[in-house]
Amino acid sequence: KRYKNLIGKKAKIPLFNFEVPIISDKSAEMEKGTGVLMICSYGDKYDVEAINRHKLQPRVILNQEGRINSGEYKGMSVKEARKKVLQDLKEKNLISEQKSISNFVNVHDKCGTEIEFLPTEQWFINILNKKKQMLEQGRKIKWHPDYMLKRYENWVNGLEWDWNISRDRHFGIPIPVWTCKKCNKTIAAEEKELPVDPLQTKKKCSCGETAEPEKKVLDTWATSSLTPQIGLSLVNDKINLPFSLRPQAHDIIRTWAFYTIVRSYLSEKEIPWSDIMISGFVTLQGEKMSKSKGNVIDPAEVLKKYSADALRFWAAGSSLGEDLDYQEKDILTGQKFITKLWNASKFAFMNLEGYKQEKPKNLEIMDKWIISKLNNLVKTCTGSFENYEFSRAKSETEIFFWHTFCDNYLEIIKKRIYEPASKEEKISAQYTLYQCLLAVLKLMAPIMPHITEELYQKYYKKNEKTKSIHLSKWPEFDKKLVDEKIEKIGDEFIDVLGKVRQYKTKNQKSLKAEIILTIEKEKMNVLKPVLKDLKAVTSSREIKEGSFAIEFI
Ligand SMILES: [Zn+2]
Ligand SMILES: [Zn+2]
Repeated sequence: KRYKNLIGKKAKIPLFNFEVPIISDKSAEMEKGTGVLMICSYGDKYDVEAINRHKLQPRVILNQEGRINSGEYKGMSVKEARKKVLQDLKEKNLISEQKSISNFVNVHDKCGTEIEFLPTEQWFINILNKKKQMLEQGRKIKWHPDYMLKRYENWVNGLEWDWNISRDRHFGIPIPVWTCKKCNKTIAAEEKELPVDPLQTKKKCSCGETAEPEKKVLDTWATSSLTPQIGLSLVNDKINLPFSLRPQAHDIIRTWAFYTIVRSYLSEKEIPWSDIMISGFVTLQGEKMSKSKGNVIDPAEVLKKYSADALRFWAAGSSLGEDLDYQEKDILTGQKFITKLWNASKFAFMNLEGYKQEKPKNLEIMDKWIISKLNNLVKTCTGSFENYEFSRAKSETEIFFWHTFCDNYLEIIKKRIYEPASKEEKISAQYTLYQCLLAVLKLMAPIMPHITEELYQKYYKKNEKTKSIHLSKWPEFDKKLVDEKIEKIGDEFIDVLGKVRQYKTKNQKSLKAEIILTIEKEKMNVLKPVLKDLKAVTSSREIKEGSFAIEFI
């Protein structure tokens, strides 16, 4: 209150000898409680706001290079001038107190340079009056993961400025506009004139005066916000908005995603896409990779050392919205998967020699078992891909391939293929082998397009007739082929097989070592239909009923 009498008076600025008004302002009431304000143009963004609120005439002391533009300090950078001013104040004995304070200063995110404010004329698109509509548009879109919608909403709710679409840069897309300096008329290019650089084309105003070309260029988001429309033009507008998907990272929800939504709303009253998939960053030891910090892994090097598929395999392991740390060992896992896929396929192709696409009348139980598992896998993967959860599709296929297919199934059918008791049981195995491997290749094709295509070309193309795996039909889930009872039998089979292998390894015997296997009565009842396969894969001379035991012969 004791300052209230100062309102309306003027304060004299030391050193410069000019006066500034003392005004009453709400921001001062909130922050310091005096309610009295004297404004420096421009200390921070609150000064900018206060100057606009009180319609004050700013005193601009910086030029575009960030140097003082007049007076005794002319030519100095902000930091140099700051030092000199302090020194001059000291000399004139004008400092009553000096202490350190900390305050927030916005900096350029790329180089850390402090930001200074300068008034310039720019082009804006009104959006502050459309927050409600933008929130509505955002909610019409399906966000993956869904919590990312909140980030969008927070951004829209917190907007304080309209959309500034122009920039004072040397390069960029020209703004196709001329302004008549005489009558202040703005002349936009005709649609048929586009694209046009106003600097290269003269325009006359209706008053007869030659209009001035716009020298500013469009900000990058002003054009990248048009990606759906640009996409449409590439297919002669044969597709309508909304598109199906925008994939992008979370750091540009407030720019690329937001402005694209704005543009599609303003020009088509539509959402640009029905779904948006938000990924995280690639990090190195938990830090975002950045060129200036130097903590960057060059993907080209990884591609050269390993392969595109190995890199993609690693990248596909990222969960939506979450950062993924780069570790070379994860690329190696991908590389191993490729090698395994190659070797297992080669082995399978060998076993499929002479197979003529016959479909057996009856499948053996263990063949039905893996086909049932495969169908569940197809269902999970299809659902995961449809929800953009590619990492789940990847890991489920990975587990199925390594364990169910390679570790177990390929071993189980060996004997039936090499020493079949009947033609039927061999064909049952070959048919199943053919279907399973083809399905695995297809499920993996979006993630590892090269190795899967190579293997498809090598074996499947001649039978399947589709010229590329990437043009082939996605595996279809068939509910009729899922059989829980059969899966239970097969799982019991795998359990016994696991125990036998473990026992042989523990006793340092070859996995082919012959044994006599004794299993409990209940298990025997379950395993009856698959004893022949079990005998073969465990190298059992005999399977007896009794308490569980494994004896070497
Ligand atoms: Zn900078
Ligand atoms: Zn004019």
